Order: sequence, then C-alpha cells, then structure tokens
Amino acid sequence: MLPPALERQRHRLYAQTVDAMSERLGAAAGDEGAVFSALRWGMKEMDDTFAETPARVRAAVACRAGCAHCCSVPVEVQAHEVFFAADHIQVNFSPVDLAAVLARTADHRGKVAVLPSAARASRRQPCALLRDDRCSIYAGRPAACRAHHTSDAAVCAADAAGQPTDLEKVYLPALRSRLFAVMLGLDAAVEAAGFDDRAYDFGSALNEALTNSLCRIRWLRGQPAFPASCLAV
Ligand code: SF4
Repeated sequence: MLPPALERQRHRLYAQTVDAMSERLGAAAGDEGAVFSALRWGMKEMDDTFAETPARVRAAVACRAGCAHCCSVPVEVQAHEVFFAADHIQVNFSPVDLAAVLARTADHRGKVAVLPSAARASRRQPCALLRDDRCSIYAGRPAACRAHHTSDAAVCAADAAGQPTDLEKVYLPALRSRLFAVMLGLDAAVEAAGFDDRAYDFGSALNEALTNSLCRIRWLRGQPAFPASCLAV
C-alpha cells in the first residue's frame, strides 16, 4: 500500500504518460520512423523520471555497473520493447558483435523453447545480452530493466542463486511506483494504438526480430509480432 502522496503521484505520471505517448503514436499514423521516434521518447521519459526522483531516494539504490544479479531472471516484454532493442543493436553493433548476439539469442531461445510454460517464469539463466556482467545494450534495454532497482544487492544475489528471498522488502516504493507508472502508461498507449500487447520472452523474441524482417511489418500492421513459441509463458 503506497502512502497517499505517492499514490497521487503514480496516477498523475501514468495519466500524463498515456496522454503524451498516445498523442505521439496517433500523429505517427503507422509511419515507421515516427513510431520509433515515439518509442525513443518513451524510453527517455523513463530515464528522465529516474533522474527527477528525489536524490535521497536515488541514494538508497544499490544497483551499480557490474552488478548483474537481476539479469539472470526471465525478462518479460512487449513487442515494442523488442523492436526498440533490435533497432539499437542494428544501429550500434559491428557485424562481429551482431553475429555473436544472434548466436547467443538463438542458444537462449533453444533452451527456453523446451521448457514447459510453468517452468519459464522460475528459470535462472543469464540474459543473452549480458557481457562481462554489464548490459551490452544499455541504451536500448527494455522498460522492465529500466524500472528495476533494489536497496540491497545481497538479496538480489540470493534470489539469483535460487535461494528463498523476499525481494519486495528491498524494492524502493518511492522510485518503483514512479517508474512503473511510466512503463505501464507507455504499455497502455501502445496497446490503445492497436499494437501487439502479448507478453514475450525477451531473448527469444529478440532473436526472431533480428532474423525475420517480417515480424516488424506484422507489428506495424497491428498483428501479433512473434510466434507463440516466443511468448513468456
Ligand atoms: S537487457 Fe540488459 S539490463 Fe536487461 S536483463 Fe538483459 S543484460 Fe540485463
């Protein structure tokens, strides 16, 4: 239960984000460049919301570069986050690095595909984008990764090791409520604009996005972007 002031702030941020993103996507009218411009705005909005969070709240964040415990849990995303990340990779990665990402995401996809859906949510497997305990697509990472922070890395380490933990206790409500308001506001606007709103496994869907150009066309037409084998559960 959030304090009333945080609850009001959460509602305001959510509504502002839905309105601003809906306006951008409406004006884009399916134009690919304008849709991606709207996605870039949305991800920057998440980063700006973090930066505008009171300094005393940010000071309690334990997350540091090189700490990657949370990058071994399943990453559940919507299609727009996959295409945002794929775009980042295609623009910024060398052919050698791109080939390496294709190989790692294909390996990841193969391991996830054989799991029964109930086991997908509990698997512990390093993200295919993790290199030397750092995110190799930091500026292009999904919204879920941007919204995740805790106040105690030891608890994250225990969770990553599969030990019983209570992550809820080390979340920072004054930060998490703000970032989730923006993330969910972006999702709501994307869904309202008619884009695919299914929940995908990030590594599997990213492999499909990087190897099959048709999925981007399907997505821009409002159709399911990725095959059912890429769904999160
Ligand atoms: S995309 Fe980056 S931040 Fe997100 S889980 Fe993968 S390595 Fe970690």
